Amino acid sequence: MKIVLASNNQGKLVELQAMLAPLQVELVRQADLNIPEAEEPYRTFVENALTKARHASRLSGLPALADDAGLCVDAFGGQPGVDTAYYATRFGYEKGDDNNVTALLEQMQGITNRRAAMVSTLVAVRSADDPEPLIAVGRVVGEIATERRGSNGFGFDPIMFIPEFGKTFAELPIEVKNANSHRGRATQQMLMLMRERWMGD
Ligand code: IMP
Repeated sequence: MKIVLASNNQGKLVELQAMLAPLQVELVRQADLNIPEAEEPYRTFVENALTKARHASRLSGLPALADDAGLCVDAFGGQPGVDTAYYATRFGYEKGDDNNVTALLEQMQGITNRRAAMVSTLVAVRSADDPEPLIAVGRVVGEIATERRGSNGFGFDPIMFIPEFGKTFAELPIEVKNANSHRGRATQQMLMLMRERWMGD
């Protein structure tokens, strides 16, 4: 089965393709079908991911898979959430991973509740108007460290401290992070959902 991935991120394509290999699914990036990116106007991951999946399916005529991800900080009522990628720009910095980390460390100065979750939401539709989208949510709960540690990974990894490992994501080998990450968990769930609902296994 061919499925359009509503993302142009090559890293995600490779990761998802490897995990969906047992289903004999071929993932195609929407850019490779000349499909422009959809707007993401909503306040929840699931609404944005569903909109992106429907958009890709409508323009390709194929089933589609989309993801939306971000960081939800308890002390900020779950923010920055869907705005995570642009977090630094709220504080006068340019958009970018390292500036996001700087801004978050500054905003959390003096805050003792450091609990936060990285969340990945995957949504798949068989057709643009599929009334029964598949929805898989993966979370990993950690604590925002007070300074950067480690050099692996990307994004908030240097300050995402995972208590069960006693390390930040950036200090863990990449395969250990992937096996325990929000994205890894969401993808495993999506694999099970596709098997059960779409393949009848
Ligand atoms: P995206 O939508 O998955 O590209 O990510 C939204 C935001 O969350 C971006 O700022 C990413 O840097 C950050 N992010 C996503 N996944 C991870 C991760 O595994 N570790 C750290 N930060 C991440």
